[in-house]
Amino acid sequence: MAPVFEPHQVDAVMRAAAYRRLDFERAVIWSVKGENDPVITSLAEPFPSTPIFNLSTLEMLPLELVLSICLFLDVRSFLTFRQVNRRARVIATSGLHEYRRVAQYGLESLYAVLRTGEGIWKHYTRLLCTRRCTVCGMGFSNFLHLLAATRCCFLCLNSQPPCLQVTSLSWIAFLVPGKHTGQHYRLLVEKLQPFLRILRTLPGAYGVGKRPDVVRTSRGLLVEWNQAVNVVRSFGLESEDGRNFVQHPLWGYYVSTTLPLFDRADGQVQYGVSCKGCQCAYEDQAARYGSDHGGVLWRRSMQVYTQQDYLDHFVHCPWAICLWEASKGGTVQVPDSKEVLWRSRPLKWRKKP
Ligand SMILES: [Zn+2]
Ligand SMILES: [Zn+2]
Repeated sequence: MAPVFEPHQVDAVMRAAAYRRLDFERAVIWSVKGENDPVITSLAEPFPSTPIFNLSTLEMLPLELVLSICLFLDVRSFLTFRQVNRRARVIATSGLHEYRRVAQYGLESLYAVLRTGEGIWKHYTRLLCTRRCTVCGMGFSNFLHLLAATRCCFLCLNSQPPCLQVTSLSWIAFLVPGKHTGQHYRLLVEKLQPFLRILRTLPGAYGVGKRPDVVRTSRGLLVEWNQAVNVVRSFGLESEDGRNFVQHPLWGYYVSTTLPLFDRADGQVQYGVSCKGCQCAYEDQAARYGSDHGGVLWRRSMQVYTQQDYLDHFVHCPWAICLWEASKGGTVQVPDSKEVLWRSRPLKWRKKP
């Protein structure tokens, strides 16, 4: 049987039958496309001029030890160290290829980490090179759950399995007997802080609908569910299994951002694509028999692939092959469905509040 496409037609196949789902990226913490570009060079490169001052007592340590310490710093402390002087900038940038990788390819997630809380480089850079969803283990996943510090796919983020659930700090504080306002609340938060990873949510629009499900104008404090259960248990309070914790279906979006994949093998960065063919098939099925969220076709339409994974999928996807044939080998533009057009619109269409 003749191959469905020739190797030189890979780009044409991707244009005709695949698309990048920017609506997924709009659902979580995001910034307007290009907004962070001006700072990439200053974050990813040291100053060209030679350092004049050294790191004082830190110079007594072997360089490898200094670099190892850097890997265990939280992101904010690491960037503060990098700003000490030109020597620190050279060490932090040129010495740590993990850092350069994140500054070059994971700036969106770096932005989210910096504005919401803390993360450790070693953990973070490992996730940048992890392909699969660490929750379901399926395929390529393009989200970083900041509180759970894990990579996950959209289906897992949306379904909120126990390991990705979050709850509000104010609710945990509410479980502690006594007054829950003003000074008492602040003291309580200070008391709980060492035991919990706390994330300050960002104002913005969240959700996958055509209009944002929620436009937040203020910031709140969210914590990981499992950690909260342990803390509640250690304080001898009620709700040991978290039954009384408040949960909101969108809170998972507030604590997540997109994370591309840096493929160590070929040095390529993958943002993920979805199949136009599967989406068309789902739309056709929905028009005939009604929406079937959770069905096989719906799940296929929600799947995100790396380029190679997509090409493997493409040769077995009859609907994608139909699109490819309609495009006459990528030489004719086949109109996309309204849904595909909407999903692939640039992020700037919806302004931040
Ligand atoms: Zn998953
Ligand atoms: Zn498909």
